[in-house]
Amino acid sequence: MPELPEVETIVRALRDGGRGGEALPGRQIQGARVLWERTLATPDSQEFAERITGQLIKTVERRGKFLLLPLSTDTLLIHLRMSGDLRVEPSELNGVEADLKPHDRAVVLLQGGLRLVFHDPRKFGRIWFVADPNSVLANLGPDPFSPILTPQEFHQRLISKKRQLKPLLLDQSFMAGLGNIYTDEALHMAGLHPLIASDQLNIGQAEVLLIAIRKVLEEGIRRNGASIDWVYRGGDFQNSFRVYQRTGEACPVCGQTIQRMTVGQRGTHYCPNCQPRG
Ligand SMILES: [Zn+2]
Repeated sequence: MPELPEVETIVRALRDGGRGGEALPGRQIQGARVLWERTLATPDSQEFAERITGQLIKTVERRGKFLLLPLSTDTLLIHLRMSGDLRVEPSELNGVEADLKPHDRAVVLLQGGLRLVFHDPRKFGRIWFVADPNSVLANLGPDPFSPILTPQEFHQRLISKKRQLKPLLLDQSFMAGLGNIYTDEALHMAGLHPLIASDQLNIGQAEVLLIAIRKVLEEGIRRNGASIDWVYRGGDFQNSFRVYQRTGEACPVCGQTIQRMTVGQRGTHYCPNCQPRG
């Protein structure tokens, strides 16, 4: 499942071109078609196609794990969820619908002989087309890189929650962007057990955790994300996992055996020596 670094990698490719793709900003939308109705959360597909046609893509951005395309008047938001992916490809053959692949769910036709295709085998991904992006993002917590998250502010937020660290960090209303991989990696880097109560952390531990979260995410972005249990292509962060899916292997810091447990139905990987329960 794509997390912040994988989404950021896709955002940068769509915004700047590269990775074999074309840049989207500045292009006018010439039409749209939804192939699987439930992919489009709002509005209905007819209104979507009518209203989006003629609008200009201003840029491509990310909030947490959401992709945002601010347009001339509305905003297109995309959440990839389990298996969603986006590709830009030539459309000149027969326009919107020709030569689509199985599991393609929506197509946006672009000026310059291109189309943006949303591909999603498991159908959990969603697209919103709205006047105000905050109508979708209102409950989203701050981005881990947000400057409002000073160590003091992060500490205050942790102690106000009184929850176990792992489920709290996965909660997108607390902080937006972390998933199972980068949470396990950050907790290991910070030397914090996944089940420690968030209100037990002192300011120093909160700062260490915040720095660790940013470091593992930056490393993930630098490596174009992780290509694991997902169709996502091209990332290689999976080759530098410290604990994630390394159960039974030696901890890269101390050599003790990495353990696995289940926390809130999520497989959780940790080193009992580096991350004592306290
Ligand atoms: Zn260790």
